Amino acid sequence: HPALHSLVQGVATGGLRFAVTLDRILTASASPPAPAPPPEPPRAGPRGAGAGAVRLSGLTFRYGPHARPVFRDLDLDLAAGEHLAVVGPSGAGKSTLAGLIAGLLAPQTGTVRLDGADVAGRDQAELAARRVLIPQEAYVFTGSLGDNLRYLRPTADPDEVATVVDRLGLHRLVDRVGGLAGTVDPGTLSAGERQLVALARAYLSPAPLVILDEATCHLDAPAEARAERAFADRPGTLVVVAHRISSALRAGRVLLVDGGPPVLGRHDDVFARSATYRDLVGHWQRGADPVAPDTGARPGSD
Ligand code: ADP
Ligand code: MG
Repeated sequence: HPALHSLVQGVATGGLRFAVTLDRILTASASPPAPAPPPEPPRAGPRGAGAGAVRLSGLTFRYGPHARPVFRDLDLDLAAGEHLAVVGPSGAGKSTLAGLIAGLLAPQTGTVRLDGADVAGRDQAELAARRVLIPQEAYVFTGSLGDNLRYLRPTADPDEVATVVDRLGLHRLVDRVGGLAGTVDPGTLSAGERQLVALARAYLSPAPLVILDEATCHLDAPAEARAERAFADRPGTLVVVAHRISSALRAGRVLLVDGGPPVLGRHDDVFARSATYRDLVGHWQRGADPVAPDTGARPGSD
């Protein structure tokens, strides 16, 4: 499917919204899907294309010439191997930040560097070897479950696949489709199953940087906790757009975005400095869901 191909390659000229919309269109197509050839895999080398350090410098980003900037003169440095939780109310810019770090959105000023190299103008296949972004609405393509899992690392051996099936709790899905050779397509998997497949794919990926944008929001609590533990142990840098306190507490640092100047620090530090963060934590602790997984739908969009 050419549309899926461009989605996968991240040629999302319209930004993340475009990618998400495309995914929804693909996911929603009811007619029996034409057997699509799997998208061309990225040229992913072994992990070690870098160590996963991220540096944003002087970043200003707005969605259009008349829109107000989502970020203004933002600096952010993540050491290789660091785990960051990005938190904030809906519409604050968490997904925008995820897209900027991944090089899917181009800032008006400033630079995004992954292991010292500017993401601007980088070839998509090369970027794919450095980072993987899992959006809230994950995609699968029509093909075997195994090929879906190995998509970002086609050379993963059976032991590695078995490990990720185990760590993310994919056994039920594997059994249901008749093993790793069984066919899956977007229409036959639940949103949670699609997320598990996408998470497994990211886990297996050789990319030293993984960005999860509310990528566990359709999982039940035990599955989500399992996924969080798995990614906490995965070598490399992790950026998680978090909607639960557990993921914020698990991360080394928290970045609170709320339209004003972002607040960065350890959990306690951000808690002391940001009333927005204290509110969010309060809601999380009461078991409310103030950062209801944002559906991406906005009036007049789509
Ligand atoms: P979050 O992920 O924190 O909910 P987003 O990063 O999706 O927030 O959005 C940040 C701001 O940018 C919001 O005001 C949103 O409406 C706006 N926005 C997001 N995507 C687009 C887009 N494709 N075009 C125009 N505005 C957008
Ligand atoms: Mg978002």
